[in-house]
Amino acid sequence: MAENKRIFLSSPNMSSQGYEMEYIKLAFDTNWIAPLGQNVDGFENEMCVYTGAKQAAALSAGTAAIHLGLKAAGVKEGDRVFCQTLTFSATANPIIYLGAEPVFIDSDEKTWNMSPVALRRAFEKYPDTKYVVVVHLYGLAADIDEIKNICDEYGAVIIEDAAESLGTTYKGKMTGTFGDYGIYSFNGNKIITTSGGGMLVCNLDDETARERIQKVRFWSTQSRDPARHYQHSEIGYNYRMSNIVAGIGRGQLKVLDERVAQKRAIFARYKEAFADIADIHMMPINDFCEPNCWLTCFTLAGEKVCPNEIMDALGAENIESRPIWKPMHLQPFFEKYDYIDNGSVAEKLFTSGVCLPSDTNMTEEQQVKVISIVRSFFN
Ligand SMILES: *Cc1c(COP(=O)(O)O)cnc(C)c1O
Repeated sequence: MAENKRIFLSSPNMSSQGYEMEYIKLAFDTNWIAPLGQNVDGFENEMCVYTGAKQAAALSAGTAAIHLGLKAAGVKEGDRVFCQTLTFSATANPIIYLGAEPVFIDSDEKTWNMSPVALRRAFEKYPDTKYVVVVHLYGLAADIDEIKNICDEYGAVIIEDAAESLGTTYKGKMTGTFGDYGIYSFNGNKIITTSGGGMLVCNLDDETARERIQKVRFWSTQSRDPARHYQHSEIGYNYRMSNIVAGIGRGQLKVLDERVAQKRAIFARYKEAFADIADIHMMPINDFCEPNCWLTCFTLAGEKVCPNEIMDALGAENIESRPIWKPMHLQPFFEKYDYIDNGSVAEKLFTSGVCLPSDTNMTEEQQVKVISIVRSFFN
């Protein structure tokens, strides 16, 4: 029985010390069972301390954070937004919520994230574009300096989707703190989780950051003007994080460094185990990046073995695996929007890639089993 226990890609892993429960108890003891309270404020402050962001707003999801981040940046109906094509749909959906138009940007083989070459081409085609959404997939940093230089040239603002990269640094600085806005997710599969939740951070100067994040908190609690009755001069959203959920986040934050170390060890074991297999190309780790290794992924070269065979074999042993994200410009909903190509890198990553179980609850023994199933295709 025990040996057939499901092995997950990435499942929730609460602290062995019970930190999360202490903060939940604090919420119960003070009866702040609401979308505000000590844990919400505490979680925001502690995320700022951890990441180095100026200001943070705790929200109900990473998607909500992208939505309000784009809105705070000024995205409105009819605007064009450049968006990395290789990502989860949650990166692109809020562009549509705001009535704006995404233009999808291909990836760079070197980072798997937004290609600076394709981005420049996009600006040459649409020079008046003011917003760029960059993603740090699987905890790998995009080449932010290159992207930022191009955006600065065109006066465009960066919104960083760091949903998968909490704890990843680029040139020693936390991802999510380079753009005017950055977002993190605490969905159940992320490196730390609150069951569901997100955080929007602002990295502008102190005063602007305080003002913008205050506005985001206002929007996220239904845009209630100061009045005795319910008065609304702006559209509102019910996006604030609950004080219970924030308590889980505060506890999880205490073990984030430990989770990053565990994820890196998982990656290192896979890398070593597949080092002699020429057809397996591990995800790229650049000198400028210290990744959180949220998921370990590889691509397959050659024709001998295809990703589906490996995923089927793992599935038969109750082991979860997954393809790389299917690019947005290939999704039925999004295919009507423009796409700037750079040699179909995103599409090739999708068709040749596999995400391996990278669960911090996985034992070394279980990982050995995953490794031996993968290796069996190359003997
Ligand atoms: C998980 C994820 C999101 C969305 O976060 P939620 O908290 O699930 O709304 C956004 N972008 C990327 C790249 C993600 O992986």
